[in-house]
Amino acid sequence: SRQGERQRYLFFVEGLNEAVESRQRRLRELRNAIDDGGLTLWFQPQLSSDRRRLSGLEALVRWPHPSDGLLAPDAFIPLAEEHDLIIPLGEWVLKAACRQLHEWQQLGLPVPRLAVNLGARHLLDSRLPGFVADLLRDYELPGHCLEVEVTESTVMEDITRSEEVLSRLVRLGVQVAVDDFGTGHSSLAYLKRLPIQRIKIDRSFIAGLPDDAQDRAICRTIADLSHSLGLQVVAEGVETTAQAAALQQMGCNDLQGFLLARPGPITRITHWLRHEAP
Ligand code: C2E
Ligand code: CA
Ligand code: CA
Ligand code: CA
Repeated sequence: SRQGERQRYLFFVEGLNEAVESRQRRLRELRNAIDDGGLTLWFQPQLSSDRRRLSGLEALVRWPHPSDGLLAPDAFIPLAEEHDLIIPLGEWVLKAACRQLHEWQQLGLPVPRLAVNLGARHLLDSRLPGFVADLLRDYELPGHCLEVEVTESTVMEDITRSEEVLSRLVRLGVQVAVDDFGTGHSSLAYLKRLPIQRIKIDRSFIAGLPDDAQDRAICRTIADLSHSLGLQVVAEGVETTAQAAALQQMGCNDLQGFLLARPGPITRITHWLRHEAP
């Protein structure tokens, strides 16, 4: 009936309003969390593929939300990207990462390399290299202990400007890794053009190892290509010893994944560095 339809429409509008309001609330909360130290960093180790050496750590942001529990990045990074919060969020992550590197250094637990994820906006931000230079100076860190992870899609958004920002970072000694390699839509031309040191094979290609012939071919090809170009290779999402063995045999330099160590908060990783790291 006409009446029923109107009723349904009103419910629909009410539902929309609620969705908009809860999104606005989430956005306000996120802005405050970034400004007031409400975010936290977790870290996941990367080991050499023979597992005898700590190669570095990757910083992974978390949001301990007062009512919704510990939120993973997928729950708030897209929101930050849509609403111009990704730059302040990324700056918070970079600063927290450098502060923690300094702290571990002070504790006599030196970490050779700390990788930080950057979104597309950062590579278009000409102030980023200056910001990073200040952090390195303030926390007395050599540039080579910091690595930025960028995705193919990110650099392809504006390759000329990305190239400029990345080159300035590299001049500070900072290393550059291409994250989620093989999942973006792009040519390989940027590998030649950008100052990259490392490629991370996406975990979707690791999952089928060692049995899946296609995944094996893809991983081996990425490893061979990287080495021919003088780049190092990291495999992410390594969960089984069989995967680790296959990747080591293919010549992957480093491994990262639940098999080696799960991501953890600072206290857990500090304990790991002190008692469990190779
Ligand atoms: P990513 O850069 O590909 O990070 C690796 C993700 O894989 C992490 O999820 C990690 O917890 C998970 N992982 C690690 N080892 C394994 C494994 O063996 N098996 C499986 N199934 N998963 C594994 P997380 O922490 O939820 O991060 C998700 C994504 O959020 C990251 O993907 C990255 O793209 C983004 N992200 C994380 N931290 C930041 C940040 O500080 N800034 C930005 N812009 N993005 C971030
Ligand atoms: Ca990453
Ligand atoms: Ca990745
Ligand atoms: Ca991935």
